[in-house]
Amino acid sequence: MLNLRDYQIEAIESIRNAYRTGNRKVMYVLPTGGGKTVVFSEICRLASLKKKKTVIFVHRKELYYQASAAIYNHIDRENLLYVKVAMIQNSKKINVEDAEFVIFDEAHHVSASSYLSVIRRNPNMKILGVTATPSYESARVFDRVIYGPDITTLINRGYLSKFVYLCPKTIVDTAKLAVTKNDFDVGQIQKLLSNKSVYGDLAKIIKEDYPEKTFIVFCSNIQHTKNTLDGIKEMGVKAEMVTGDLDIRVRKESLEKLARREIRCVVACDAISEGVDVPNVDACILMRPTKSRTLYIQQVGRVLRPHPSKQFSYVIDLVGNVMIHGLPDMPPPPLKPPRQKKTESNSNSQKVEICKNCYGCYDSSIHGKLCPHCNYEAPLKPKKKKIFSIKNDEIIEVQRDFVKPELWNPTWDIPGWRYAIKDLDTVEKLNEFAKYKKYKKGWVHKIMESRKRR
Ligand SMILES: [Zn+2]
Repeated sequence: MLNLRDYQIEAIESIRNAYRTGNRKVMYVLPTGGGKTVVFSEICRLASLKKKKTVIFVHRKELYYQASAAIYNHIDRENLLYVKVAMIQNSKKINVEDAEFVIFDEAHHVSASSYLSVIRRNPNMKILGVTATPSYESARVFDRVIYGPDITTLINRGYLSKFVYLCPKTIVDTAKLAVTKNDFDVGQIQKLLSNKSVYGDLAKIIKEDYPEKTFIVFCSNIQHTKNTLDGIKEMGVKAEMVTGDLDIRVRKESLEKLARREIRCVVACDAISEGVDVPNVDACILMRPTKSRTLYIQQVGRVLRPHPSKQFSYVIDLVGNVMIHGLPDMPPPPLKPPRQKKTESNSNSQKVEICKNCYGCYDSSIHGKLCPHCNYEAPLKPKKKKIFSIKNDEIIEVQRDFVKPELWNPTWDIPGWRYAIKDLDTVEKLNEFAKYKKYKKGWVHKIMESRKRR
């Protein structure tokens, strides 16, 4: 038997209620690390007790093994025959026509044709999709979306680790990156970030700044991962690589070495970002700028697993993802159709403040200008320096500390620092003002001429 947390019991109740009230396709949203596998395993068990045939579709080998292990451990032997775990890539070979229940893991992919065709093949079966990061396109496939607790709640209750988010520097200007398939071009990122100075930054963070911690470094593609691994190993960092083209046993071994602290670092591209548990890793370093909130949250989620050996998890963002997506515990942007998504910027990112003293990132709508990590108070942003707006003889505003002291005219000392050009009533005053403003010679002449005409 699994020990279910209260919100997991609640989730199962809400999901079953949704079916009872006539919904056929239900999506359940829970942050990475919240235990989605536990929730759907229990639902499978309850279905298997009633001899209902269930198929669980996953899209990666790791998830296949993870789901199979969970089902095997959780469901009574005599009922195991009612539950099947399958890869979505093989869905055509899987009989769903007589299934009563289908579960999609990582259901943000569900708008892809392979998933949709499974749904179409049997209009009677119930569907459950689970994900941490629903998209508009995936959510609209379902009749009902049920939300579990958010990241902040799970952190406050100790189910996820507290974290410190640091953005010490941004080594890539994302504005200049090409965009392919709705995300930054991974090949371009690889070329930009495969160099000695970047490896030096990484080696310094791992060896000098945090000599006690273990790391996952997330890169953009396999070549970038290989380059980075070679680069930091050359600089004396004990590291191994985890990519999708490696055998799963090799990958597992590297992660176990990391867990035992025999190596300091695992360099990965996205193979590790879904479905692999490394609970005691201390920190991740983000080296892949991404427009995908799903990828961002999944990568950060890898290090948020709580473990007695760590008080905080560290996220070190070298590519400015926090400025695109906001902090991981900020509420996700509302689900909107993609056309609207393009023009709107994620409002979360506008609330992120990066401390100039400790590089810690925080939500300025909560903490204002005071860094919660080091108590450094950020200076107020200087007012825009556009202090003279002159339309002929209209009122202008003069800010004293902006004007060179030797050029300051005492007659400009008016309460509120407001001044009107019409009060520059002599050629001398106009000349002085024009000198300060570096106006062309003709300006004074023009003003004088216009006054004569009146
Ligand atoms: Zn600070």
